[in-house]
Amino acid sequence: FSSVELTRTYLKRVSSFNSGLNSFVTVCEEQALQEAELADQRLKGGHTSLLAGIPIAHKDIFCTQGIKTSCGSKMLDKFVAPYDAHVVSQFKQAGAVMLGKTNMDEFAMGSSNENSFYGPVRNPWKESAVPGGSSGGSAAAVAARLCVAATGTDTGGSIRQPASFCGITGLKPTYGRVSRYGMIAFASSLDQGGPMARTAEDAAAMLQVMAGFDGRDSTSAEAAVPDYSATLGDDLRGLRIGVPKEYFGGGLDANIEASIQLALNEYVSMGAELVDISLPNTHLGVPTYYVVAPAECSSNLSRFDGVRFGHRCSEPKDLEDLYKRSRGEGFGAEVKRRIMIGTYALSAGYYDAYYLKAQKIRHLISDDFRAAFNQVDVIMGPTAPSTAFGIGEKADDPVTMYLSDIYTIAVNLAGLPGMSIPVQPVGGMPVGLQLIGNYFEEAKLLNVAHRLQ
Ligand code: GLN
Repeated sequence: FSSVELTRTYLKRVSSFNSGLNSFVTVCEEQALQEAELADQRLKGGHTSLLAGIPIAHKDIFCTQGIKTSCGSKMLDKFVAPYDAHVVSQFKQAGAVMLGKTNMDEFAMGSSNENSFYGPVRNPWKESAVPGGSSGGSAAAVAARLCVAATGTDTGGSIRQPASFCGITGLKPTYGRVSRYGMIAFASSLDQGGPMARTAEDAAAMLQVMAGFDGRDSTSAEAAVPDYSATLGDDLRGLRIGVPKEYFGGGLDANIEASIQLALNEYVSMGAELVDISLPNTHLGVPTYYVVAPAECSSNLSRFDGVRFGHRCSEPKDLEDLYKRSRGEGFGAEVKRRIMIGTYALSAGYYDAYYLKAQKIRHLISDDFRAAFNQVDVIMGPTAPSTAFGIGEKADDPVTMYLSDIYTIAVNLAGLPGMSIPVQPVGGMPVGLQLIGNYFEEAKLLNVAHRLQ
């Protein structure tokens, strides 16, 4: 069948189910069909990209030329990007079809997608549950088969946690593996784009398009990009899997622990070996992140002042009034909370006590992983301490919400690649197994994930 037929099928699903799920904030029906026609022509002409003609969606944090890029915020509700993000242009070149832009927590701050200006996304497995966040729109869209795959971003778990809550596969690449050009900045030393898909096989095809050096991102890595699909199916005999004792502590749901154990046993039956390891600074991940990420966001978000772009209040009295009201009206509560925490942590007299201290702890966390990778090839544990929780359940308690990222955040602080893959759930809702690899070992993670699917 043709890409036009495939695209029509997906667009039909979007129009039937999106009003319930709220996973897309923009649907580009006409443009998608044009892209599909073009892809069909290219395919007839011998174009061989794996993704040619495949309908995908982009998280609304990636700039798309001529199409609204809101980042889930009132601040950018009317912003039409004048250029494509690197990732978006890579997919265009590969001939993929963009169905639309997916909902997300405002400026990617959140773990439940309840912080979006466009309202919460619903979990396709249970209407009253959250899809996770901040890439909840992409996760729900892939899980509900409203697109084949989607892009996401992960600053502190935002690809892996929603992948786990929605029962799909998500990969957060090594920091620097995927260009951040045109990806609206939250916390620049942590932000990384990556694929969200049904399987590791699909994620490998997506990453192939996304990865690679880009001179427009100063932290883009020059490391060569391997063929991610070529090593899928490699033998796992002798693979040493590190199981960190800190990831199986008090707060972990018993059903999740049982599901993870079943998955680990399967790896043992494939010839892998389990090694008990320790990541002793795990408990410092969340507090460290909540200094570093707000500090960087307070700086990044200072550009939204109502002057050049973004929301502008009506009839400002003077410049200060313009700044205050534009920012006051444009940002939601969680974003304001982060800006205030970050500004405080960076202010004279507090910088050493908070930001500098957090940077030092960040090194200790990286050292924990370095020591672990001297002993093992890959680390495994749960992605999140619970399955998808109810909409509204944690909305008034930011600290409990922040704790849903306890197992994912350290990976960002260290800049490592991490994945979440669905495993056989014990209990009703989807459960994610987290795989953590050494720097630039995405191919290994994808293969290990693929062998379980
Ligand atoms: N949930 C975390 C936060 O709210 C992580 C978000 C993300 O990875 N973008 O900051």
